[in-house]
Amino acid sequence: MNGKPQVPAIDGWYSMDAEQPHLIGSRCLHCQTYFFPRQFSYCRNPACESNEFEEVELSRTGVIWSYTDACYQPPEPFVADDPFQPFAIAAVRLEKEQMVVLGQVASGITVAELKLGLPMELVLETLHEDNTETRVTWKWRPLASSSQPAKIGSEHINQPGESHVH
Ligand SMILES: [Zn+2]
Repeated sequence: MNGKPQVPAIDGWYSMDAEQPHLIGSRCLHCQTYFFPRQFSYCRNPACESNEFEEVELSRTGVIWSYTDACYQPPEPFVADDPFQPFAIAAVRLEKEQMVVLGQVASGITVAELKLGLPMELVLETLHEDNTETRVTWKWRPLASSSQPAKIGSEHINQPGESHVH
């Protein structure tokens, strides 16, 4: 850590707890449907006419529902590194809410290490920093690596020919 204050790259989408960050969603008080990002005005469930929501911290773990490699600069409002570097994107189905939330995969993790159904957890990573502050965003990281620092190096790369789809 460099002592600069950490601020969210997008306000109000996730808690700034370095150890146990949560995405912040909302739940309809009438039909109990979860939403991310938060809904404020009306329920998107067509069978529901409620406009009352409560703010909730969503599950910080889930399993991979889909994933892909982003080899090009994604369009706004997706927040990407500058200069752009290819990264993996995972759609993770949250453990409790069973809703799918898209996110960038943590630095140093390649698609070769991902597979459908793999348990993932939410982490915060630096997006970029300037002279006064560090801006962080949420990413998905394989749960198995949570007890050790993310490795970046050849020892973490799967053997050639090993398939990532089983
Ligand atoms: Zn509703």
